[in-house]
Amino acid sequence: YDLREEDLKDLQELGAGNGGSVKKVEHVPTHTIMAKKIVLIDAKPSVRKQILRELQIMHDCHSNYIISFYGAFLSDPNICMCIEFMDKGSLDGIYKIIGAIDIEVVSKVAQAVLEGLTYLYDVHRIIHRDIKPSNILCNSKGHIKICDFGVSGELINSIADTFVGTSTYMSPERIQGAQYTVKSDVWSLGISLIELALGRFPFSDSSSDDDDSDLSDLEGTLSPSRPMKLDLQPRPRKDKNSKEAKRNKRKSKGVSLQGGGMTMSILELLQHIVNEPAPRLTPEGRFPKIAEDFVDGCLLKDPDQRNTPKDLLQHAWIVQARESKFDLEAWASTF
Ligand code: ATP
Ligand code: MG
Repeated sequence: YDLREEDLKDLQELGAGNGGSVKKVEHVPTHTIMAKKIVLIDAKPSVRKQILRELQIMHDCHSNYIISFYGAFLSDPNICMCIEFMDKGSLDGIYKIIGAIDIEVVSKVAQAVLEGLTYLYDVHRIIHRDIKPSNILCNSKGHIKICDFGVSGELINSIADTFVGTSTYMSPERIQGAQYTVKSDVWSLGISLIELALGRFPFSDSSSDDDDSDLSDLEGTLSPSRPMKLDLQPRPRKDKNSKEAKRNKRKSKGVSLQGGGMTMSILELLQHIVNEPAPRLTPEGRFPKIAEDFVDGCLLKDPDQRNTPKDLLQHAWIVQARESKFDLEAWASTF
């Protein structure tokens, strides 16, 4: 495809995130339906050209678990990327429509994401860096694929300078400023799987006595690619019901960053991720033991103990998912 802006006809808005927006378009000369992502960046022309060059690696990414790439071009002052259109959208949108996702489907999602991550890393040495339900897409054939991975170092830098991100899928080691590794993606996968299986973001306050606010759309002034050097060293756990904990909790009521009934600031959430035990697939007994075990393995707080995506492809739950005859195409036809 020799993509030119004037050959693309807008059909539908698909959504918008922090870094830009996505539209369904038709490439008129070839009648190909695509998703066009406009990436808002604040960078010099030379940097924009560099980004465009780096994005060309995506032409070489060929996997059933990775969104295909049609091309990218400059659309002053932004960058446009045209990628495979997935007609069932992203998994966050899907669970918000149909509710908690069946654990057997979740196991297929885990398998697809691990295959995609392993392909990206083994073949191209690419680390995804942004695994979350909105970056896992599904189509009516029942295919599950990942998108929005960090192919371009320059793009990662440029977005970090301009956007204000939700950082809630970030691993404890990233919050504490360590290097990104494939294992950070495994943490993000674990959080995402719990979110899909429960139908809600796992770091919510529902275990507390007085409210059940949800933190999934917290925004802060942090970007996923900028390490933070804050006071986020692990600390001994405090008793949740101690006087001090209760007082702090009351105090924190007043400092939510935005509306929506949230009671934890982004900083408190990040401290929570570093200091508290990782979330789990609960309640006990609702999900198969091997699913619980897999998720526990993704959410080991020490990255040295956490497995890589490639190791996890051998986990019994994933082996079972690969062999399962579960019909994802039929599942996708139910919504
Ligand atoms: P963030 O900006 O925080 O990463 P996001 O992933 O939701 O959030 P975008 O990547 O801009 O933001 O995507 C916006 C929405 O567009 C997604 O939630 C998804 O539902 C939809 N979308 C993205 N790519 C495609 C695609 N290839 N096919 C169909 N829908 C898509
Ligand atoms: Mg996205």
